[in-house]
Amino acid sequence: MSGNGQGERTAFYFDEKCLWFSAGPAALVLPIGGWVQPMASGGHADSPEPKRRLKSLMDVSGLTDRLDQRKAAPATREDLLRIHPASYVDAFKAMSDAGGGAIHPSAPFSGGAYEIALQSAGLALQAVADVAGGRSRTAYAVTRPSGHHCSPDVPMGFCMFANVALAVEAAKARHGLKRVAVLDWDVHHGNGTEACFYSRGDVLTVSMHQENCFPPGGFGGVAAAGEGEGEGANVNIPLWPGCGHDIYLAALERIALPAIREFRPELIVVVSGFDANGVDPLARMLATSETFRAMTRLVRQAAAELCGGRLVVVQEGGYAETAVPFCGVAVLEELAGIRTEVVDPYLELVSLQQPSAEFNAAQLEVLKRHPRYRA
Ligand SMILES: [Zn+2]
Repeated sequence: MSGNGQGERTAFYFDEKCLWFSAGPAALVLPIGGWVQPMASGGHADSPEPKRRLKSLMDVSGLTDRLDQRKAAPATREDLLRIHPASYVDAFKAMSDAGGGAIHPSAPFSGGAYEIALQSAGLALQAVADVAGGRSRTAYAVTRPSGHHCSPDVPMGFCMFANVALAVEAAKARHGLKRVAVLDWDVHHGNGTEACFYSRGDVLTVSMHQENCFPPGGFGGVAAAGEGEGEGANVNIPLWPGCGHDIYLAALERIALPAIREFRPELIVVVSGFDANGVDPLARMLATSETFRAMTRLVRQAAAELCGGRLVVVQEGGYAETAVPFCGVAVLEELAGIRTEVVDPYLELVSLQQPSAEFNAAQLEVLKRHPRYRA
């Protein structure tokens, strides 16, 4: 039986090596020292456990076997240089070879991180290439380290290469795509992807994120709408802390998807962080696994209307070991058009904490003033 109703199974990209990336000893996001005590398990928020547990849940539930599991080669230097200057690539490699360090304080890494980051980017590159080249209709890649905070020459927020931007550039170069939309629902602003395409009209970047969360310092405002040929091709949707299921769907249906429809992309790439879930340690939102399921359904419908169903989901953030596996399964089930027997045991916990109607009405009033809001 067909996986996604289109006679093709969803392609799936995962590499065990990406679980070996380490940000070194820390406590959440702070280095050890002063009043910050070392933690037993390494302690950095970007632990491999959320993604390891997702893959484990997929294996145990039988979901992995129902997907088209594919390998990916590491990104090549040619791939990297489409976005990153050689000076950045070489500096990262030299520091990685020397045992690790940090080019930016929010993106520390251990020895060997360079090769792991190449593999992580390679997964996104292959997923987008396979969909752009017609080998699959839908694809899902689990990447680590993530990419959406990395600008061409500055790594940030646990991101070492601009994975999705690299994948989009490679697909444009090799498959002649003219218009690609990148929708980022990671709870943090997709500042790196924005920076890569800010003056470009051929790549639409849309970021839904918690206002004033990360990066700090005025990122992610509505007024940042692109420049030059990219004017109007960057859409930021900042959301108040505390937003849950209803506001996420409203922001997607009333702002993000209308912008994507107006852009008429040939391919949609979702930067899927699960850190908007209600128990994430690095954000203050109340999305549930059903929120991510519903958003995937809506984006899949838009892809079917706009671009022959061509849709790639690249998993990035998400730091709650408990919640991420269930959010990931929900997205994968919806993307692939299949259901497993997995039930999210945390769904009720977060569903009972959704914000009030008054909160939602007030946030909706703000969204209605967004220049890209469509009733
Ligand atoms: Zn994030």
